[in-house]
Amino acid sequence: MSKTIFQKIADREIPADIVYEDDQCVAFRDVSPKAPTHVLVIPREPIPSLEHLAEENAALLGHIWLVIRDVARQVGIAEKGYRVVVNCGSDGGQTVDHLHFHILGGRLMDWPPG
Ligand code: 5GP
Repeated sequence: MSKTIFQKIADREIPADIVYEDDQCVAFRDVSPKAPTHVLVIPREPIPSLEHLAEENAALLGHIWLVIRDVARQVGIAEKGYRVVVNCGSDGGQTVDHLHFHILGGRLMDWPPG
């Protein structure tokens, strides 16, 4: 199966503004930000979407949530607040088939989302 654009970013085959990485995940700024601060967190494992998660991914997901907390602090949006979004599938608005968590901050978020 060919690599997704996010897997290529994780493997450093194409450039991205990486703000954090470890052995399980990578966080980088969205190339087309939807808020003043917009960071994506992805697992290194090429899981296509939330729908493809397995029981064995539970520890990875717990780790990713802690990374999201720390990255939000690192990029300066934790104090005022931020939103975390996961789009799943075509109706969910997912356009890249590699599980990713959007961290959006730096402005007041609307609710409900469109
Ligand atoms: P989705 O719509 O799948 O939930 O989110 C995909 C996100 O990936 C979009 O916000 C889009 O701007 C971002 N994106 C797509 N291609 C690239 C890329 O090559 N580099 C980076 N940094 N972000 C990308």
